[in-house]
Amino acid sequence: MPTRHAEIAGAGLGGLAASIALAQRGWTVRVHERADSLRMFGAGIWLWENGLRSLAALGVEDRATKKARRIETLTARDAGGRALMHRKFGAGDRLILPPRADLYDALIERAGELDVDIVTGSRAVAATTTGELELIDGSVHRADLVIAADGAFSRVRESLLLTQRVDYLDEGYTRLLIPRVDGDPATEVTEYWSGSRRLLYDPCTDDVNYVCLCCNVDDETGRRIPVDKADWLRSFPELGGIIERIDEVGRWDRAMRVTCRAWSRGRAAVVGDAAHAQPPNLGQGANLTFQNTLALADYLDRDRDIETALAHWEQRERPLTDHIQRWTALYGRAASAWPDRFARQRSQFLERASRVPWVDRQLNKAARHVPVGAA
Ligand SMILES: Cc1cc2nc3c(=O)[nH]c(=O)nc-3n(C[C@H](O)[C@H](O)[C@H](O)COP(=O)(O)OP(=O)(O)OC[C@H]3O[C@@H](n4cnc5c(N)ncnc54)[C@H](O)[C@@H]3O)c2cc1C
Repeated sequence: MPTRHAEIAGAGLGGLAASIALAQRGWTVRVHERADSLRMFGAGIWLWENGLRSLAALGVEDRATKKARRIETLTARDAGGRALMHRKFGAGDRLILPPRADLYDALIERAGELDVDIVTGSRAVAATTTGELELIDGSVHRADLVIAADGAFSRVRESLLLTQRVDYLDEGYTRLLIPRVDGDPATEVTEYWSGSRRLLYDPCTDDVNYVCLCCNVDDETGRRIPVDKADWLRSFPELGGIIERIDEVGRWDRAMRVTCRAWSRGRAAVVGDAAHAQPPNLGQGANLTFQNTLALADYLDRDRDIETALAHWEQRERPLTDHIQRWTALYGRAASAWPDRFARQRSQFLERASRVPWVDRQLNKAARHVPVGAA
């Protein structure tokens, strides 16, 4: 059978995962990254069971998580210390939190082993349904399949007229790493709620913890970089030990939701945040990206007709992604849109809701899903 070739726009987590999944199945792959070098910023990333299984199938799970802590419990607490939610993890139901850079480096190394050609300083501007990727220098690269993995603001997706909606949401997130000290919780993730602010503490490795500060976009002091520690201390006076360790570095992002008219057109497909960017409250954006790119390669393997394979892929894989996009947005709204004066009622509501098995199933539907191609 003739070797098939893919051209991919974007060497983020999505583009690299797609390149590996295809290269493992015999495709030749070239990835175009607009940045001049491959670099990842300092933060941690939640990898759930579905993402871990997908990464294992891609041959990167061990490398990506070698320094990471295995999380045993996840708890959300309100300003009074009341537990709003509690989740325990066990075998076959894992949450692991590596630094993003470890995950990114593992994907790059694996792509290299599979002879994926990664071209930096190469900006894609458009794709065609007949399998061409056009770059900013005017060159056109032909392929059996073109993949837009160029993130939430995807220019390639829009050139294919696949954008349905791009929503800018009311909350934003500052991500950073802090040094770890003796006595820090080692296996428990805690999300502290105070009014419309949240502080997420995540044990990451033996050396660092990952902290995520969530606030409303109108909260100008809350989203300031460097972090206004005195102001965050006023919201979380009991967390001085964590907040004092925050340094000058940090990255603030506004939550976004991207909805596509379809995930493909002709010989072009859209993956990752380009296809389904979502607020990060359930920590599933990248996990879904891994399982969806793995499934994409699997469907293309089963059906040689590319358009038929892409149609099956979307039909089977998209409903779960749509579901998680809805629930992660709902979770964010409970935090950012609930009036402060009804904080006590919110605590009661969340505490009760989290004990309802149906709610637990909705929130963890992706984490408990066995990805296609990873069985
Ligand atoms: C605050 C926050 C916390 C999160 N936490 C988690 C978590 O814990 N777990 C989880 O699963 N997910 C999480 N996510 C989501 C996750 O980070 C994303 O889903 C994931 O990074 C998407 O990867 P991507 O490759 O699709 O997009 P991106 O990471 O945006 O990568 C796109 C790449 O394409 C390149 N590019 C852009 N335009 C072009 C172009 N025209 N030509 C060539 N290259 C181009 C960019 O430079 C970039 O390298 C979080 C998101 C946020 C905002």
